[in-house]
Amino acid sequence: MSVKINVSEIFASNVFDDATMKQRLPKKIYAEFKNTLLEGKDLEPHVAEIIAHEMKEWAIEKGATHYTHWFQPLTNITAEKHDAFINPQKDGSILLSFSGKELIKGEPDGSSFPSGGIRATCEARGYTAWDCTSPAFIHEAPDSTPVLYIPTIFCSYTGEALDKKTPLLRSMEALSTQAMRIVKLFGDTTATKVVTSVGPEQEYFLVDKDTYDKRKDLIFTGRTLFGAPAPKGQELDDHYFGTIKERVLSYMTELNEELWKLGITAKTQHNEVAPAQHELAPIYDTTNIATDHNQLVMEIMKKVALRHNLVCLLHEKPFAGINGSGKHNNWSMSTDTGKNLLEPGDTPHSNKQFLLVLASILKAVDDYAPLLRMSAATPGNDHRLGANEAPPAIISVFLGDQLEDVLSQLCEKGEATRSLEGSQLETGVSTVPRFSKDATDRNRTSPFAFTGNKFEFRMVGSSASIADPNIVLNTIVAETLGQAADILEKADDFELALHDLIKDWVTDHIRIIFNGDGYSDAWVEEAARRGLPNIKNTVDATSVLADPEVIKLFEKHGVFSAVELAAREEVGYENYSKAINIEARTMIDMVKKEIIPAVMEYTTTVAKSVAAVKAVGADASVQEKVLKEITAELSKLDAAVVKLEAATDASVKIEDPKAQAIAYRDDVFAKFPEVREPADKLETLVDEKAWPFPTYADLLFNV
Ligand code: ADP
Ligand code: MG
Repeated sequence: MSVKINVSEIFASNVFDDATMKQRLPKKIYAEFKNTLLEGKDLEPHVAEIIAHEMKEWAIEKGATHYTHWFQPLTNITAEKHDAFINPQKDGSILLSFSGKELIKGEPDGSSFPSGGIRATCEARGYTAWDCTSPAFIHEAPDSTPVLYIPTIFCSYTGEALDKKTPLLRSMEALSTQAMRIVKLFGDTTATKVVTSVGPEQEYFLVDKDTYDKRKDLIFTGRTLFGAPAPKGQELDDHYFGTIKERVLSYMTELNEELWKLGITAKTQHNEVAPAQHELAPIYDTTNIATDHNQLVMEIMKKVALRHNLVCLLHEKPFAGINGSGKHNNWSMSTDTGKNLLEPGDTPHSNKQFLLVLASILKAVDDYAPLLRMSAATPGNDHRLGANEAPPAIISVFLGDQLEDVLSQLCEKGEATRSLEGSQLETGVSTVPRFSKDATDRNRTSPFAFTGNKFEFRMVGSSASIADPNIVLNTIVAETLGQAADILEKADDFELALHDLIKDWVTDHIRIIFNGDGYSDAWVEEAARRGLPNIKNTVDATSVLADPEVIKLFEKHGVFSAVELAAREEVGYENYSKAINIEARTMIDMVKKEIIPAVMEYTTTVAKSVAAVKAVGADASVQEKVLKEITAELSKLDAAVVKLEAATDASVKIEDPKAQAIAYRDDVFAKFPEVREPADKLETLVDEKAWPFPTYADLLFNV
């Protein structure tokens, strides 16, 4: 039986969105609220009071009993604490209430959130404050009453940001301020702000829950720490865009329904390259809302999976040897009047504003490549960046034939006079309608690719919040647009200054452009020749936050203070150490409690078989060979795990966060292969019935 969903009816039905506010709020209050949003002013208490009341009434009509301030601490996931609307009265009855104050401000005792030393446990006060640019919504779950969610920022008593949303909002403002200077220079008198938009494509794996439950590594770390390759991997290219299995489609259907109710524009779904891998892409939205929505997408993906006895893996590299998962961060900026600053038009060579914006982005990406790399750095993503399926850890920009041609005209002749045009597509089939091709082909291997009217930053990991990359993108582009405005606002001859600026910046930063195969070894060498950084791991990437130039940049644009950056650096190291510590402990546990006992039991069986076969005078050489091979690997495994345990015990004691992260990387993580290799070898030698947990074949091909 197929499922029927009335999409237009359910879409955003659980969102206290603009339409709902307009309909429910008194006209004057609605107008005052809109004005506050527009002018970025403080909300008047009486307006907050009425909005809170209506929000509560609406939520109660939907069955809600609780509300929560919903925020995004430095963990890549969200946090919430539910409060009931109940308010006891003197006569013993209960009133359901929700005040303007409760809407605007919350006070979670947040001492257990990562703060990088900003807030000691003894000074636990933290505040959440309503982000009225992202609408409140109702979260429903089976067998529970719905809860009203209020998107908030999270900061310390002294005002430092303890979350990802605060700096994201600041970076959006910074970009708008600088981009507006450019827009004005080009004569736009109607735009009042520039908004950045993002469409994040989300990759994920689905595995069967019963199978998952038998793997401690998946449960504790989100990825497999052991596993010999399955007989079949992704070599046949038969999964990408393949027919979606019914069980998966039924999952996607329920997922879409949940997302649509929350006003999330889930649009595209397909199978990805690796077996059991899939993708969901929404339609792009303002960076802030897109970030909130992406957090919800990740969370709901996991919840809905469980209802289908599936587990959704968002780890960047759940399985060795096959593709990992990322998140393509499609980014653009447009005026509030709807003009996309990244739209080249049909003749980009004559679109001077576009060329200036493009040159500014090239400069930003080149000047701050290590920062952009940092924004995608997580321990999980270290496995992906530079591996063969993902963009390498080197930042470069793909522009495509048309723009590259325009820029090379500029560099060589000082002037661009023509743009390559897209031709008609010749299919050789007369019954297929003819259409014109894009002027540029795609490139799948570039970490930062221009795709028509947006840039696609492809380094971001699948489990990460998209806040970090967008904070960085917004800030570095704000910086270079600001530098351009500084020069152009003072120019006596605007046209000449503009021409020179574009030409100079393109010439200076041409090294960041690379249109070839980003996955090839040749590119790694070429990039080194060009002097482009190749930052291979999270620990090195994180240290860029201590760079004085980086501190200056963020302080200048009011995105981060030096204190906030130092805190984020520390949290980066801590998160790394914790992740590797958990992986090491899980490895040790699985080896000692599962693999070694299982192999010992199996060797006993084989040894008995050797003795029995020999006793009747038959040839036991095969049994002996197997036994020898297994015991050799077993002792390698035992030796390796002893070393890993010692290194982990030593690293956990180191107090300095950076030194500790370095130790976890060089002493602990570096030992993982020594443990994994003999274990995986043993998996191929031991009777499959004797192996203690499901294999790659069981995990990847049984949904
Ligand atoms: P592909 O996989 O071919 O790159 P998808 O359609 O899967 O493309 O995803 C492209 C994403 O880019 C979608 O989320 C889409 O909404 C988003 N997008 C499209 N135009 C813009 C834009 N101007 N700014 C930001 N994101 C955009
Ligand atoms: Mg894409």
